Amino acid sequence: MEAKKTRVVIAGGGTAGWMTAAALSKLMGKRIDLVLVESDQIGTVGVGEATIPTLHIFHRLLGLKEPEVMAATNATFKLGIQFENWRDKEQDYLHSFGFLGKDCWACGFQHFWLKGKQKGMVSDIGDYCTEHLAGRAGRFAVLPNQDLNHAYHMDATLYAGFLRRFAEGFGARRIEGKILEVEQASDSGHIQALKLDNGERIEGDLFIDCTGFRALLIEQTLNTGYDDWSHWLPCDRAIAVQTTSVGAPPPYTRSIAHAAGWQWRIPLQNRTGNGIVYCSKYWSEEEAKRVLTENIEGEMLTQPRVIEFRTGTRRQHWNKNCVAIGLSSGFLEPLESTSIHLIQRSIVRLLQLFPREGLVAADIEEFNTQTLEEMENIRDFIVLHYKVTERSDSPFWNHCRTMAVPASLAHRIEMFSEAAKVYKHGNELFGESSWIQVMMGQGILPKSYHPIVDMMEESELEGFLGNIKGQVTRKVEAFPPHLDFIRHYCQSR
Ligand code: FAD
Repeated sequence: MEAKKTRVVIAGGGTAGWMTAAALSKLMGKRIDLVLVESDQIGTVGVGEATIPTLHIFHRLLGLKEPEVMAATNATFKLGIQFENWRDKEQDYLHSFGFLGKDCWACGFQHFWLKGKQKGMVSDIGDYCTEHLAGRAGRFAVLPNQDLNHAYHMDATLYAGFLRRFAEGFGARRIEGKILEVEQASDSGHIQALKLDNGERIEGDLFIDCTGFRALLIEQTLNTGYDDWSHWLPCDRAIAVQTTSVGAPPPYTRSIAHAAGWQWRIPLQNRTGNGIVYCSKYWSEEEAKRVLTENIEGEMLTQPRVIEFRTGTRRQHWNKNCVAIGLSSGFLEPLESTSIHLIQRSIVRLLQLFPREGLVAADIEEFNTQTLEEMENIRDFIVLHYKVTERSDSPFWNHCRTMAVPASLAHRIEMFSEAAKVYKHGNELFGESSWIQVMMGQGILPKSYHPIVDMMEESELEGFLGNIKGQVTRKVEAFPPHLDFIRHYCQSR
């Protein structure tokens, strides 16, 4: 017998709300009755414009075509993030989305490269990775069978609008209004309805909290609790501003470290997104604003806007009949552009565990376990950038360099420092190439490499390394400049 339709209510229509609405309406449309409530008066956080390659999976799920999304959101391509002044002042490296060199079954490419380095045979490890070299060269192409592993920089407001049209096309119903009250069942404490400022009452079976940092349902109503991670990630403020573009957009995000935080530059087709993430213990708002405005290019299109946050995670991401997705579920600073990825992962997980009739405690537990594991893994990767630094020019960097880190991260740093070993467990987001690029970029040079490399004669090793570099160089030289490719590609939609 067919189960009755589940009434799903999404509170909030930022990137999280509309991504969730788009996926649920497309994939579950006939089985659910979907309503999204949002308030134009409150608005959205308005940032969140750099993504990582996993967004392709989400777009494939929705059946979206890449040129169409790019044209609708003024997007550019992204091949990685350039970290400037992170290891030390005047030093930079690119964390690209690419795969480094070639592996053998026993060990990764970094082991071959390290021996090559000892013998004076190699250049920068990024020269052995197509995405890395293409990023540095400002070149890009989408080619059959040799796609560059890429993501996008896109306008967050246009993206939410694009997904709204998509979701409404699949039957999602949007209600404009401010939620004034969240009604709970007196016995179970489950959420029953949202009451709006216009008097409307919206009942539901399953509520998705996408109300951003307010966390109106999951925290203000259900008091779920929050684990604070600011002892590892002390930044707690951001200031965002949009500027006109200057020059052609690079195919990477820029992350520029300063004395008490770091600045982002996200190039779109028509403008640049800028902002500074900083720690209020070391900088006043005025100081952070000054550093930001002194380090932007182009004319300001918006006034600098301050956003406060506290890094950490909600203790449960699914509590009773409420699932938190987006900023309401916790926050990790945008250093590796992982928030939209986490939104998408929660959506997929919700789809996989979607209740047929009634809630199942084991499903809820699984949702919470998987979400927390993902967040902890990403947290470690972000903490790595702060911990492994040679900077000693400010109290902020002295704190970061000397702080205790999670045991899971200390273990990875030790394995890599000793003998260049890295690993990826199960569903972890960041693969070996990411860990290697960031650990080396931040200044770790492993003491030794895997003994299997010594099985190769030196001439053989030189040929192996030279071949990879030659192939990568030739490939990248054939790509057009990034902006030329975007123009041609967006017109092809
Ligand atoms: P919001 O955008 O805040 O949306 C909340 C929604 O809830 C709005 O529609 C609002 O109107 C509604 N709402 C709230 N209260 C009520 C109420 N009472 N009644 C009705 N409606 C209500 N992520 C990335 O992946 N890449 C990045 O580069 C990146 N950069 C970031 C930079 C900064 C400084 C910050 C703070 C975050 C960044 N993020 C980034 C995270 C990203 O911005 C968010 O994950 C994403 O925008 C989702 O936000 P949201 O939809 O959860 O919340």
